[in-house]
Amino acid sequence: MPKTTRILCPFCKKHTGHTVEIVKKKPRRKMAQGQRRFKRKLSGYGSFPRPKPDHEKPTKKRDLRYKCKECGKKHTKGKGFRAKKFELVKK
Ligand SMILES: [Zn+2]
Repeated sequence: MPKTTRILCPFCKKHTGHTVEIVKKKPRRKMAQGQRRFKRKLSGYGSFPRPKPDHEKPTKKRDLRYKCKECGKKHTKGKGFRAKKFELVKK
């Protein structure tokens, strides 16, 4: 994938040059409320409250940010997509 593309900037409302960058998700230290409730349920009596999740998917969705060269603002383009290997190439 090229490092720069020309796509529509939602701030400038026109097609401008954008630099693409991958954002890695930050690990959260604290457990979410639902996760804590889930753990408490597991520690008590009774059966497993819900089936074990399936195998993890072999590929991860990439979180891409597009930075507009004109206004300098970053925005996303829909959802990330799955790819086994993802590289940004200078063009
Ligand atoms: Zn812009």
